[in-house]
Parts: sequence; C-alpha cells; structure tokens
Amino acid sequence: MSRFSTTGGEGLFLVVSAPSGTGKTTICREVMKMYPGLRFSTSYTSRPPRPGEVNGRDYFFVSREEFEAMACRGEFVEWAENYGQLYGTAVSVLDAYVEDKRDVFLDVDPRGAKAIKARYPDAVFVFILPPSLDELKNRLKNRGHEDEEALKRRFGNAVAEMGEVVWYDYVVFNDTLPEAVDLLRAIYLAEKNRRSRRKADIEKLIIDRR
Ligand code: ADP
Ligand code: 5GP
Repeated sequence: MSRFSTTGGEGLFLVVSAPSGTGKTTICREVMKMYPGLRFSTSYTSRPPRPGEVNGRDYFFVSREEFEAMACRGEFVEWAENYGQLYGTAVSVLDAYVEDKRDVFLDVDPRGAKAIKARYPDAVFVFILPPSLDELKNRLKNRGHEDEEALKRRFGNAVAEMGEVVWYDYVVFNDTLPEAVDLLRAIYLAEKNRRSRRKADIEKLIIDRR
C-alpha cells in the first residue's frame, strides 16, 4: 500500500495501450496491488467465461446477439472483434465510473483509445513500450502457446501499433519491471494531483480559512 493519498478529486481514466507481450497486464496489476481503489474497467464480450472468471468483474458476458444489438444502439464507446469474439467498452459503464469518481485503467488498443479520447478528453493516455524489439520478440516467445507464423504476425502488428505512440501523453519503457511499475505509479499520482482535478479540495481549504 502506498503512503501517498489518492483520495479526493475527480475520478481518473488511465488508458493504457501496449503492443501485445510488452508487459502491460503485469505492470497494471502491480500498480493495482498498491492502490485497491484502482481497477481495470470492465468490458463487454461475446466470448464465454473462462474458468474462474466472474461476470461483472472480469467482463460482462453477453451473447453475440445481445452484443450486436448494443452496438447497433450505439451503446459502446468503442468495440472490436478479436480472435472471432466481440469486445467493447460501454458508455454506461464509463459514465458510471465518472459519476462514482472511480479511478480505472482502460486496457484498449490505440484505435479504441482514440475513441475514448474523443468522448472523455480528460482521460490520460499511457503507451507502454518494450526496451527493444529483440526483447519484445523474446517476451512473446516466452508466453508460449503460439507457432512461428502466429508469432511473426503478432510481432508485425506490434511494430505497426507502436507508430501510434505519437499522440499519447506518457510512455513507459518496460525494461525492468520494478522501474516500469514505479513510473506508472508516478504518472497515476501526478495526474491525481493535477490542480484541475483537485478544485473541490482547494476551494474547501480556502473557504475553511475565511
Ligand atoms: P501484455 O499484457 O502487454 O500482453 P504481459 O503482462 O502478459 O504482456 O507480459 C508478457 C510477458 O512478459 C509475461 O511472460 C511477463 O511475465 C513478461 N514480462 C513483463 N514485464 C517484464 C519485464 N520487465 N522483464 C521481463 N519480462 C517481463
Ligand atoms: P481475452 O479474451 O484474452 O480476455 O481478450 C482478448 C483481447 O480483447 C485482448 O487483446 C484484450 O485487450 C481485448 N479486449 C478486451 N476488452 C476489450 C474492449 O473493451 N475493447 C477492445 N477493443 N478490446 C478489448
């Protein structure tokens, strides 16, 4: 648990993108261990739950028909088809986080991140990068489960995706894990304490002194 307070102020959307295999999930999980109020945003998906996954925590699991109907009604800020299944970030879910002043990590690719930026301009955008392309190759290999062809495709996509880094607010190079965790934590703390996010606390302080 961190000794720095993250209470007060508005909720914060931290949109985190990274080429697959860079270490985004690992880093975000470590930061969330330090700040129990900070969570991953819950997306909708048409895929069935895996063992241990909980509806409403890991995802909102819906049928493909339900998902498509929601998409037609414009209920998603962004959605995508990944590996034959549909995934999306619902407007209602994000609006509820804003209302509750919740801090959330949004794990979305650059295309989804752009859609979130258009609707939530106060969100903060962080791109996680590997220390080198060779190291990214190693991490993808170490994750296992994929043949050489699939790995090549994933690596090609990763390099193309990195071009999007130009419009993000922050970059975190994931060389050693403790340093990357520290950096993401620092970004979180700094953004929580932006003056524009602490307006209510500042006003309260000044009014109390009168
Ligand atoms: P992503 O969510 O970006 O796809 P993961 O968090 O699943 O990536 O990490 C991919 C692999 O790289 C995992 O095996 C993870 O343990 C490893 N990894 C993550 N960060 C580091 C690091 N700083 N140094 C070495 N290996 C790492
Ligand atoms: P998984 O089925 O392994 O949980 O997720 C598969 C992929 O879907 C991952 O790359 C994950 O980042 C992506 N994904 C999860 N939720 C969303 C979402 O709300 N929107 C988009 N565009 N992708 C998502």
